[in-house]
Amino acid sequence: MGDVTRRTVVASLGIGTVLLFAKFAADARDGGGASPEAAAAPATPVAPAPDVPRAAVPPGTLTGLPPEAGDVIAITLDDGTDSAVVGAFTAFAVERDLRLTYFVNGTYRSWTDNAETLRPHVASSRIQLANHTWSHPDLTTLDDAGIQAELQRNHDFLAEVYGVDARPYFRPPYGAHDARVDAAAAAIGYTVPTRWYGDLGPPAASEGEILAAATEWFTAGRIVIGHLNHDPATRVFGQLADLLDERGLTTVTLNDVFITEQHP
Ligand SMILES: [Zn+2]
Repeated sequence: MGDVTRRTVVASLGIGTVLLFAKFAADARDGGGASPEAAAAPATPVAPAPDVPRAAVPPGTLTGLPPEAGDVIAITLDDGTDSAVVGAFTAFAVERDLRLTYFVNGTYRSWTDNAETLRPHVASSRIQLANHTWSHPDLTTLDDAGIQAELQRNHDFLAEVYGVDARPYFRPPYGAHDARVDAAAAAIGYTVPTRWYGDLGPPAASEGEILAAATEWFTAGRIVIGHLNHDPATRVFGQLADLLDERGLTTVTLNDVFITEQHP
């Protein structure tokens, strides 16, 4: 291509770009282009919160849901060492209209891998994100500054990537906490150490063990713990959802049933 030709092409491209931009600007001023549908912002998926009474979060370690909330259960899922499992649980929640709380360790890449698909469901409040520390240490082995650094780094990650305030719920890794850990966490707004009453099984639980645990623990008022680390749970989604239906249980996030300073 000769110099003259190339300059002509470049100049035409330049004019084209300017014209395109002018059209875009005009469309924006008019509040949309020829097609109103095309101009509409992508809709946040609808996931209305269940119509249950909310209660002030009680002081101390949280292990259950307010009795007045009725036949509700909070399924809380931790860690996220497997990106595919995080994606599968999220798709499951959408498909079966469930509400879940994830206790995130931002150090695992699943939370950036899945950010784009997860974000609208966090925005709609179908999925609540809470703080499980950045890198999953036993907090009782850290000094106060170390405890706060672990929680704050994860807090900032969740704020930046998902636009949420994860406070006041934190789940100490291994469930290990004491009065000193709780005080250090509370000083940066993490005032609710969140444990559980019912576990979907040890890390390497089989499908059968997970179903047996769910049969034991899926009861009104419970906070049940599971993990986003291994895939057997993803092969019994249908049975888990059916069990919830049979028992008349509605899944809720913690924010659905508790009133806190950050989530009034
Ligand atoms: Zn954990």
